[in-house]
Amino acid sequence: MTTHSLFAQLGLIPPLAQAVADLGYEKPTPVQEQAIPLVLAGRDLMAGAQTGTGKTAAFALPILQRFAPQASTSTSPARHPVRALVLTPTRELAVQVFESFRDYAKHLPLRSTVVYGGVDMNAQIAELRRGVEVLVATPGRLLDHVQNKTVMFNQVSVLVLDEADRMLDMGFMPDIKRIIALLPTQRQNLLFSATFPDEIRNLARALLKNPAEIQIAARNAAADSVTHVLHPVAREKKRELLSYLIQTRGLKQVLVFCGTRIGANRLAHQLRKDRIHADAIHGDKTQAEREAALADFKGGKTAVLVATDVASRGLDIEGLPQVINFDIPHSPEDYVHRIGRTGRAGLTGEAISLVAPEDQEGVAAIEKLIKKRIEKVLVPNFGPSARTVAGMMGDEPRRKPSPSPSREPRRAEPRREPEKKQHSDPIFSKPYEPGTAPPQSKSETPEQPRRKQRQVAALLGGFKKPV
Ligand code: AMP
Repeated sequence: MTTHSLFAQLGLIPPLAQAVADLGYEKPTPVQEQAIPLVLAGRDLMAGAQTGTGKTAAFALPILQRFAPQASTSTSPARHPVRALVLTPTRELAVQVFESFRDYAKHLPLRSTVVYGGVDMNAQIAELRRGVEVLVATPGRLLDHVQNKTVMFNQVSVLVLDEADRMLDMGFMPDIKRIIALLPTQRQNLLFSATFPDEIRNLARALLKNPAEIQIAARNAAADSVTHVLHPVAREKKRELLSYLIQTRGLKQVLVFCGTRIGANRLAHQLRKDRIHADAIHGDKTQAEREAALADFKGGKTAVLVATDVASRGLDIEGLPQVINFDIPHSPEDYVHRIGRTGRAGLTGEAISLVAPEDQEGVAAIEKLIKKRIEKVLVPNFGPSARTVAGMMGDEPRRKPSPSPSREPRRAEPRREPEKKQHSDPIFSKPYEPGTAPPQSKSETPEQPRRKQRQVAALLGGFKKPV
């Protein structure tokens, strides 16, 4: 059966089935199989699906189809009112979702655009004035446009909350509620989330009308296509172990997670000193720098992209084979999100975590969430002391084969003072788009969910720029 007909069997019209065939999609993914007919039928939807499952097409294709009867080749903005609003937590995800809509709509006269903070508003205003059917937005910037009266919601008939759990984590709920209150009450609501903490369930109950529920991975479980491994390591040897793994395994495209922006910068710098092509992506970089870092990584120019959680959110890197947790995430849900970058769309992936003795509690929380014990593999010469290792492994460690014969066994390193524990990256508590629209600047002023702004600043001891 041709691709065309497999997608057409879900009820998709030829211009859309053709667009996915053009993109090389061979068959619908499970979330697409389940969601597309439901969304076409006008149902509200609560979908448990993480990024990488093909969830964007699962909502974008049927949304476009629902608007196809009103599609117009007219240049009049009045013929292109905003009909669908898609809210996402980060700019990167917003851009990716927008690009998907644009690609899927290529055979239909339906327009989409994206608005996010951190860049000048004028270009976005011009796009909005031309008229767009699909508006993808991060919440803070969207509210700026509302305030500016540069966007109208009176024709919105579909609302999508994408990565709702992340929007919750990032403190966007008050902004989202403000936006929802501005929408026409008669509309279809689609909520996508990787995890379903109680607050998301409550939001779903308030928002969705008689929703269809679909669950792609088991609840809170990580994608099955990903193998997980933990390497116990002395904290001060983490960086060396990382370089060692990248070099001995010849890793060509690996996303490395760091808990802090400073840590990410420093790690990328140290890797470069080890002659590994590495770059960092985090909230202190401008949008242009982040896009360039991502393009180099996707294009194979850099082998290692060191990222903080928020900066990596929603990154879609086709066929990414490995993610490495250099720092264990602060919350176990972040582990699920991190490894969601690999093993996507049916490909296999590997999630490697470097675990120092002080990370054990975090690992236990992750194992509880994903409901599986993660295999621990000791890499000779990098582990903590034998006693600590015994405590960490719980059971007999599987030892990795020794390094290649060409490599001299390492001498025990003189013990260095452990680094001071860093403050957690404010980016975790502080989404990163400005609420107003400054010109693109080097120093990032994260978008603040309006109500949280003062609290976070107070916690940080004022409004100083985080380091
Ligand atoms: P998403 O979960 O929406 O971020 O999608 C992850 C990746 O899978 C994106 O690169 C999509 O282009 C790709 N994708 C989505 N649907 C399919 C499909 N049916 N076949 C192959 N790739 C797909």
